[in-house]
Amino acid sequence: MTVEKRENSMKARLSTIPPKVKTIDTRRGSGAAVERIRGYALQKIRLRILLRDGYACRVCGRASADGLEIDHVVPLHLGGKETDQNRQALCPECHAAKSAIEERGRGGKS
Ligand SMILES: [Zn+2]
Repeated sequence: MTVEKRENSMKARLSTIPPKVKTIDTRRGSGAAVERIRGYALQKIRLRILLRDGYACRVCGRASADGLEIDHVVPLHLGGKETDQNRQALCPECHAAKSAIEERGRGGKS
């Protein structure tokens, strides 16, 4: 009797779970599809710059396989271009420091 009861509650649970999972999957699927296209182009640029810079931060020289960020040498808002010449690999610390300086300069200019 107890087993039967458990089976029944399991069946009840199973019948409620699939719709929930489906809803989440649809949302995730559509979101990922949009981001995948954007992310793919970015991944290609990222990989190209990292390979060129030898997977090392261009400021402090710290090497990292996956902890580096791609930075615009001349910020776009200062006329920098979306070219590889204007891109460099930076570690998060140097990137944050550079961004902070740029942010300050931006505020002082305007
Ligand atoms: Zn660095």
